[in-house]
Amino acid sequence: MLRGAALRVTRPRLAVLTAVHAHPHADTVSIFGAVRTELPEVSHQAVYDVLRALTAAGLVRRIQPSGSVARYESRVGDNHHHVVCRSCGAIADVDCAVGETPCLTASDDQGFSIDEADVTYWGICLECVPAPATS
Ligand SMILES: [Zn+2]
Ligand SMILES: [Zn+2]
Repeated sequence: MLRGAALRVTRPRLAVLTAVHAHPHADTVSIFGAVRTELPEVSHQAVYDVLRALTAAGLVRRIQPSGSVARYESRVGDNHHHVVCRSCGAIADVDCAVGETPCLTASDDQGFSIDEADVTYWGICLECVPAPATS
């Protein structure tokens, strides 16, 4: 993947890419922790720099729901959306709406050529839904 994006293959890049693949929607702290287990000597700054380079190269997608820190994922280029739990901040993938009214078909595109729709669904995840009262 790195070579395909014309990026030099370095151990920190490989380790960060592997960590993002293994932990979708992880924040920098978790990614740093995962990379550290493989490369104990890597610095915070190095991980930040690699994440920035991978994001710029399109190998990694950065998402940041409001009220959350930046998260990274390796599922790029399919314009999928996210559902975020208001209570615990859990994030899950939601495929792009399909059918009669795909979300990329804006009601009025204002003449723009649209290639992405940034949709975030908010709600309460299964873990956070109060258990039904048993009587
Ligand atoms: Zn939750
Ligand atoms: Zn995702």
